[in-house]
Amino acid sequence: MSTSERAGHVCPALTPAQIARGIKSGRYLMTELGLERLCSRCGDYYPADTEFWYYQPSAAAGLHNNCHACYREITGRLSAADKRMLEELACV
Ligand SMILES: [Zn+2]
Repeated sequence: MSTSERAGHVCPALTPAQIARGIKSGRYLMTELGLERLCSRCGDYYPADTEFWYYQPSAAAGLHNNCHACYREITGRLSAADKRMLEELACV
């Protein structure tokens, strides 16, 4: 699996077909800055890399469905130990 790196952050590689499907469905947006991804919670687009999204190997795109800010809000209800465990799993 090939990845491109920007400022130490990893962008999971998507196939052209995945990108085309994502743009058609509104989940992705191609901007002059590159590929951006829609957060299913806050409805904003952010660059599709691990600077804005947690890495999730089980997801098709390799990224969590929610942006960092939403993810933190969701996990804000968890205990500190649970959060640490999640962060370790998310490779941040
Ligand atoms: Zn969000």
